[in-house]
Amino acid sequence: MVDLQSQYEQIREEINLVINEVVESGHFVLGPNVIAFESEIAAYLGVEHAVGVASGTDALVIALRAAGIQPGDEVILPAFTFFATMGAVLMVGAEPVLVDIDPSSYLIDTTQLDGVLTRKTKAIIPVHLFGQPANMDNILAFADEHNLIIIEDNAQGIGAEYKGSKTGSIGHVGCLSFFPSKNLGAYGDGGMLVTNDEEIAQIARKLRTHGWSNKYQPEMLGYNSRLDEIQAAVLRVKLKYLDGWNDQRRKIAQQYSSFLSGLDIGVPLELTNRSHIYHLYVIRLQRRDLVMQALREAGIASGIYYPLPLHLTQPYDSVGRSGKVGQFPVSEAASNELLALPIYPGMTPAQVKEVCNQVQKILAKLT
Ligand SMILES: *Cc1c(COP(=O)(O)O)cnc(C)c1O
Repeated sequence: MVDLQSQYEQIREEINLVINEVVESGHFVLGPNVIAFESEIAAYLGVEHAVGVASGTDALVIALRAAGIQPGDEVILPAFTFFATMGAVLMVGAEPVLVDIDPSSYLIDTTQLDGVLTRKTKAIIPVHLFGQPANMDNILAFADEHNLIIIEDNAQGIGAEYKGSKTGSIGHVGCLSFFPSKNLGAYGDGGMLVTNDEEIAQIARKLRTHGWSNKYQPEMLGYNSRLDEIQAAVLRVKLKYLDGWNDQRRKIAQQYSSFLSGLDIGVPLELTNRSHIYHLYVIRLQRRDLVMQALREAGIASGIYYPLPLHLTQPYDSVGRSGKVGQFPVSEAASNELLALPIYPGMTPAQVKEVCNQVQKILAKLT
C-alpha cells in the first residue's frame, strides 16, 4: 500500500544526520527538536500553539480533556472513521453520538447534525477522511449556534485546505497523527494537537506530562504522552517535503481516476473549495472482496478502510448503546464496498497503470 523504503532512500543522508545528532546530544524526550517542530507545524498550519504528544489517539484524548469535555457530555462524530476517533471519546468517559456519512464523499453528513443535538451535546469531531476536508462552513455554523467545541480529526488531512485555510486550524483544536503510514509519518508513533486557544494549549502541555508544569507537582490527573526527539528530528526533515509529496499524491490520484472512471467503479469525488491530499485513494465497487482477493493473487496490495462502522464495534456496544445493523446504512454500505488502492509519493505512472490494468482485467472476468 505504501513504500516507505523508497521515501527513505530519497532523504537518507538528511535523516541519518539528524538521528545521529539526537543520539549524540543525549536529549531524547521533549527537547529542542520538539520545540522547533512545534513552532514549524504551527507556522505551517497557521495556528498559534502546537503541542507534541505520543500519538494521534493521545492528541484526541488530550484535546477533549483540555477543551473541558467530561463524563456524561455528548460528542458528535461520524459513524465511519478510524476507531480512535470514537475510542478517544470513550476514554474520557464522554458519550459518542454517531452521525451517518454523505454517500458521495464519505464525510460526516452535516444535514443530520440538528437531529442528534441534545442539551448534553458539548463537542463535534469532524474527520477529514482519506485526506479530504469535511464541510467546515456547515460545522462552524452549527457549532456556533449551539456553543459547541470543534475538534478536527486531521490525522489523515495534514496539508489539505478548506477555502484557503489548512485543515486542523479551522476548529478550536486540530489533532495530527505521525503514524509511519500517514502523509507526514515518523519512524514510530507520534502526534500533535494545534490550537489558537492559549488556555487549551496550556492544559494540554500539562496533561502530556502527568498533569504538571512544575515537576512532581501535578495540578490534575494527566498522562505520560510526549513526543520523542528522534521522531521530531525526522519529522522536521520530512515537513519540508510534505507539500511536494502531497502534490505527487494528487497527480497519482488523477492518473488513477482518469483511467478507472471508464470502468464500472466509483472514483473519489473531489468537492469544490477544498484540496484533497489523498492520504488514501479509495474506489467503490460491488463484489469488493472478490476484487481484493484477485488483486492479491496478482501481487497487488489493497486495503479495506474500514471493515466495521463504529456502531457495530464491540466498545460501542459494550456500554449498552447497542448499535444495530441498518442504523447507519450509508456507513454500512461504505464498509462493504470501499477499497483503497496503493498510493504514495514516488509511485510511478507505470505502477499506477499496472494496478489499473489489473483492476480492469479482474472486472472483465467477473462480469
Ligand atoms: C491514524 C488516525 C488516528 C490515530 O492516530 P494514531 O497516531 O495512530 O494514534 C485517529 N484518527 C484517524 C482518522 C486516523 O486515521
